[in-house]
Amino acid sequence: MSQLESAVKEIAEEMRQRPDRGEVATYIPELARADPNAFGLAVVDADGNVVYAGDADTPFSIQSVSKVFTLTIALGMVGDRLWNRVGREPSGSAFNSIVQLERERGIPRNPFINAGAIAVTDVILSGHQPREALGEILRFMQFLADDPSITIDKAVAASENRTGFRNRALANYMKSFGVIENPVDFTLGVYFHHCAIAMSCRQLAMAGRFLAYRGRNPSTGLQVVQPDRARRINAIMLTCGHYDGSGEFAYHVGLPGKSGVGGGILAIAPGKASIAVWSPGLDAAGNSHLGRIALEELTKRMGWSIFGA
Ligand code: GLU
Repeated sequence: MSQLESAVKEIAEEMRQRPDRGEVATYIPELARADPNAFGLAVVDADGNVVYAGDADTPFSIQSVSKVFTLTIALGMVGDRLWNRVGREPSGSAFNSIVQLERERGIPRNPFINAGAIAVTDVILSGHQPREALGEILRFMQFLADDPSITIDKAVAASENRTGFRNRALANYMKSFGVIENPVDFTLGVYFHHCAIAMSCRQLAMAGRFLAYRGRNPSTGLQVVQPDRARRINAIMLTCGHYDGSGEFAYHVGLPGKSGVGGGILAIAPGKASIAVWSPGLDAAGNSHLGRIALEELTKRMGWSIFGA
């Protein structure tokens, strides 16, 4: 068994047994149904080997992990003009905070807090019908993961649509500053649905490969984005990918990563691996509690931290 295989297997076993599992998100009622005992881990290395353990084939709600991919699409559509609509500084506030928006005249701090991701979705939507924009996002995920079976969990999207009052407030607030171009309900409809994409750790790790390998899918050789774009998306993941827990994540794990309230994290070890972990229990900042611990253990064992061993 390779060093990676034994690390993945042992970490999954250790995580399965831990009593501290965090709290499953309940503010989107449908997410409260997730099993707090679930744990999955999948790693795709530079040779295309997929190493996985635990519930690595169980689909979960990727939620904010989808924002990495919508950012990639929006940059592809409008390039650096995107940065007129959204910043790229860590927010230091909660994922759904509204306070900064007033001070900064409706321009969200970065594309990964909710307000920023809603603005990014609005960019993708412009000039399209909501169904087309959503189809574009879903097909991109299927293409990257090389798996056409990936779908949207409609029950999760409907659940968030019913209860997403705060996101509605953020979107309306940005609309008042002219940062949102489309009807707020259209933009939010696409946003709620792309957050509700369901994927397994294995599919997610496959989808993240282009970020680990200079914008290129290592198995097909296709250049998804230019190397400098992949590098910059990684930089934003490192500084902003875990909301106001981004500093802690960099400190403990030392990799670009993006979390979602469904308990998933996509982490990128540049040149070495694309990693997806899932455990639905969250810490106080809304990031997967065991997911973070498992990634810390993995990077330590493999010497993968971008800051050195
Ligand atoms: N759809 C969720 C929301 O907007 C995403 C939050 C997250 O995953 O952190 O609240």
